[in-house]
Amino acid sequence: MRFASLGSGSRGNALVVEVGRTRLLLDCGFGIRETTARLSRLDLQPEDIAGILITHEHTDHIGGAVKFARRHEIPVWLTHGTFKNHSHAENLPDARMIDGHSVFQIGDIEVQPFPVPHDAREPVQYVFGDGCKRLGVLTDTGNSTPHIEALLSGCDAMVLECNHDPDMLRDGPYPPMLKRRVAGRFGHLDNGAAARLLAKLDNRRLQHMIAAHLSEKNNTPELARAALSPILGCAPEWVGVADQLNGFGWRQVF
Ligand SMILES: [Zn+2]
Ligand SMILES: [Zn+2]
Repeated sequence: MRFASLGSGSRGNALVVEVGRTRLLLDCGFGIRETTARLSRLDLQPEDIAGILITHEHTDHIGGAVKFARRHEIPVWLTHGTFKNHSHAENLPDARMIDGHSVFQIGDIEVQPFPVPHDAREPVQYVFGDGCKRLGVLTDTGNSTPHIEALLSGCDAMVLECNHDPDMLRDGPYPPMLKRRVAGRFGHLDNGAAARLLAKLDNRRLQHMIAAHLSEKNNTPELARAALSPILGCAPEWVGVADQLNGFGWRQVF
């Protein structure tokens, strides 16, 4: 299993997961040309993508999905709530409804969705498996739940939201309503909340830790790394950061 990011943050998200000959795109928040260009950085063509999984209907996650899926005739998996709340979802060429609690298989990849508290209609995040190794992905969640912790515990690789530093958000440029939304129970995980969540997990198998969905205005890679690294007892640089422009390159899970 290996994975990489095309970019992460409020201006667009997309992650590639590969097991054997199956490659899935998790979210498609970039336009067609941008998605194609970013895939080529990973030596991938659109035809290499077997399916697109969507987490929720916010534009930074679904904004490019319909056009990309139509152009390349790619099936898209999403919850009923996400489908109903995206205005162009009926134009998807092949929409497949998922249950937020049921494991399913796409090619060589086992997909475990799980519901998250976020201000969308039926948002989910995912754990990906190859039958042996597991990659847990959690962004766009206002807080943690016992169910989330049970699923992320014991993962071999993790992509975890570190959206903001609470002080930077408080003193930053966002209008008050947006500040309340981001910091709220259905908003986004701040660095400390991500660290507290991580501290509850069994991290002994963890080979890759990536901080993701960092706010460009209200956070820095250094602060995110400084929050997570003491929990893992690692050097700050060991914690990867998925940024908006470049995401991150291939990470192999052994
Ligand atoms: Zn988002
Ligand atoms: Zn969101």
